[in-house]
Amino acid sequence: MLKYLTEKSPSEIDVLIIGGGLVGGCLAAALADTPLRVGVVDHAVPKIAPSNAFDGRAFAVSLSNKKLLQAVGLWGTLNETSAPIRDIRVSDGSSMFFLHFDHKVVGEEPMGFMVENIYLRQAIYALLEKKKNIRKFSPNFVRHLQRDRSGAVVRLSDGQEIRAQLVVGADGRESQIRKECGIGLTSWNYNQTAIVCTVQHGRGHSYIAQERFLPSGPFAILPLHGEPKEAANRSSIVWTERNEIAPSLRVLSEKDFLAELAVRFQTFLGELKVVSPVYFYPLKLQFARCVIDRRTVLIGDASHSMHPIAGQGLNMGLRDVAALAEVLVDAYRLGMDIGDTAVLQRYNKWRRFENTMMIATTDVLNRLFSNNIGPLRVARDAGLAIVNSISPLKRHIIRHAMGLTGNVPKLLEGKPL
Ligand SMILES: Cc1cc2nc3c(=O)[nH]c(=O)nc-3n(C[C@H](O)[C@H](O)[C@H](O)COP(=O)(O)OP(=O)(O)OC[C@H]3O[C@@H](n4cnc5c(N)ncnc54)[C@H](O)[C@@H]3O)c2cc1C
Repeated sequence: MLKYLTEKSPSEIDVLIIGGGLVGGCLAAALADTPLRVGVVDHAVPKIAPSNAFDGRAFAVSLSNKKLLQAVGLWGTLNETSAPIRDIRVSDGSSMFFLHFDHKVVGEEPMGFMVENIYLRQAIYALLEKKKNIRKFSPNFVRHLQRDRSGAVVRLSDGQEIRAQLVVGADGRESQIRKECGIGLTSWNYNQTAIVCTVQHGRGHSYIAQERFLPSGPFAILPLHGEPKEAANRSSIVWTERNEIAPSLRVLSEKDFLAELAVRFQTFLGELKVVSPVYFYPLKLQFARCVIDRRTVLIGDASHSMHPIAGQGLNMGLRDVAALAEVLVDAYRLGMDIGDTAVLQRYNKWRRFENTMMIATTDVLNRLFSNNIGPLRVARDAGLAIVNSISPLKRHIIRHAMGLTGNVPKLLEGKPL
């Protein structure tokens, strides 16, 4: 039987989420209107975190994850600040072959939405503040984690103790919870850095996302919202460079940086201007060897961190949220112990295969396209041309990108738990 760490009676909670970022925050939102008692611990003060200087990323969120954000009450303000992705155009360097994915092949809805990190974080913060039944323990981190068959007791850095049925590690790539559980990683460096910034261009982007495969890595131009809507002319750039080159780009003057950017961007959208700070993200693959442990489960980047080539890291994390929330609520309704291994195994089986496949796919795509090897170039150009000409295959790829394939949890269909 588990003993409390001190004599003081600890707070009683069902699900204690460590990491109230994008994925952990969404899980809290998903569980907010269920009978489960939820707590969120984050070492950052959430109110000051979403400042402009915090992070320049914008995420391509699939249509099914937009439905999840809507179902858990996070989409409201994002409707005004996100941009639909109508089409996607993929090309290989200067090759004449390309792939064009048109959303109309599947229906009227866009393939996904570009959501800026700052707005998603603000939406999560506002919702968690409103939900009085979600207990917030920030700024704080876990000083001690003790678990046994009857529950978990967590001691926080400010001395508070919390007794929980389940501890969720949503604390990102460097997950402390993963380390506490002794869960190992499969990981390697890509020797690539993603350079992220926002640009403004002379002409509207028509809500088309562009991905160019250049020898040093993919270069993505992703449409952002803007006014007037029909002529929105801001885009998010994710420019992948080899690690040997990235530091020299960091020290360029604004004018020289713009000149380097313009070579890759090309002139199809008119005059170009960088309108944000420039951020550098070293890229690494990480995959936790398992995602469940006694009364503990990992979600989001704590469990899998992948190359941004296909914009899938957050999407996979949100799919973790949808599956875990459904598993926990089902178990609660059946009167089961939500921290029991059998319950956590259901989550593990649901998510493990898809996460493994996605991590492998992004890795292979990056290896295949981030080079200038002649025979490979010929093979992939042939591949682009063939896929572009087979309508059923294109349709399947679009449905996959929209998150509409596989065993879809209720929240991804916009249904309540
Ligand atoms: C350049 C780039 C572009 C990307 N583009 C896309 C895209 O288009 N689409 C997409 O789906 N994905 C994309 N991703 C991936 C996406 O950014 C991540 O998958 C996502 O941010 C993971 O969210 P998370 O909540 O799991 O982790 P994080 O966002 O890292 O959040 C972790 C949270 O835990 C807190 N925390 C950390 N440690 C502790 C601790 N010890 N104690 C308490 N709290 C702690 C942190 O403060 C934070 O709030 C991109 C990634 C990069 C690098």
